[in-house]
Amino acid sequence: MDSFGIYLHIPYCKAKCRYCDFYSAPGARGVPQSYVDALLRELAKNRRRPDTLYFGGGTPGLLSPAQVSSLIRAADPLPGAEITLETNPDVVTPASLQGFRAAGVTRISLGVQSADDAQLRRLGRTHTAAAAAQALAWAREAGFPEICGDIMLALPHYSNAEFDATLRLLQEGGCTHISAYLLKIEPGTAFAKFPPEGLPGPDESADFYLYAVERLVEAGYRQYEISNFAIPGHEGRHNLLYWNCRDYWGVGPAAHSCLQNVRSYWPDDVQGFIDGTVTEQAEGLCDGEDFLLMQLRLCRGLDLTEYARWGGHFTKPQMEFLRHCVASGYARFDGDRLQLTPAGMVVQNAILEALI
Ligand code: SF4
Repeated sequence: MDSFGIYLHIPYCKAKCRYCDFYSAPGARGVPQSYVDALLRELAKNRRRPDTLYFGGGTPGLLSPAQVSSLIRAADPLPGAEITLETNPDVVTPASLQGFRAAGVTRISLGVQSADDAQLRRLGRTHTAAAAAQALAWAREAGFPEICGDIMLALPHYSNAEFDATLRLLQEGGCTHISAYLLKIEPGTAFAKFPPEGLPGPDESADFYLYAVERLVEAGYRQYEISNFAIPGHEGRHNLLYWNCRDYWGVGPAAHSCLQNVRSYWPDDVQGFIDGTVTEQAEGLCDGEDFLLMQLRLCRGLDLTEYARWGGHFTKPQMEFLRHCVASGYARFDGDRLQLTPAGMVVQNAILEALI
């Protein structure tokens, strides 16, 4: 049986971060039981046991351990399943983390972002660096086999020193997995309306990314995807399902699914989801282009034989373009497998535009 993952969206947050365009309602102290009941209602319709279960958001750390436990039981994951829960450092306590672990969560993912308190305030984050270090220590005490930390790169007035300090915080906190994302100013966010001062330009941002890749690899975190790094053997299994175009089912407003290459999504209407008045909407088929797009995110790259199974192939002009990418240090290509180098990942969008 092919791998299968379930994603549960928890659209509640303590406050709205200034850069965030995820579907979430700020001002929450917890997750309403009516919302958990709606997730349970949908999970009851599923007959397929997942290999991975992912609580994403929003801030799933706002769930109570009892709510997490009931959702895990309803999802009925296979033995040995990876069960991830995202949280912000300042909404967890030793008791809640121990409760999540006891409920079956195997992987806790903390949005740390920066070790600079002034930067965290600028981003609209509600925690401090000290709170992040404390939450990581509690997570270790709670016994999670996998501890993940997020870092944001190329922030206003950014420096390599800020990255180094954040990496140190995550390393000392025992992170087995680190996601490092470049800040993107998304439409509709507070940062789009009131752009912060001191944002690095595209070339500077690319340098920050390449510096981060180098330092993470030196620190023992192997890069396996554009933004993801892990101590070997600690790669995230759930997100690999997305990038390998395997089946996943997303539940909750704004959650996306792809099952048997058919994509669908839930409208971003939390009350409609709770009331059961909205349903999943068909979005179309996943094809060779999607496969190419996803595989080139991975350091492993695109296998041309597999690509052919998706109906994809490169034309002569595309082959010529790829040879140019290799000569410029953006890609490696041995005729069977195409891989982007870190420099190629920085300009991935331009490369994909030429290939699609
Ligand atoms: S905590 Fe996460 S999901 Fe919530 S507003 Fe901030 S970035 Fe967005």
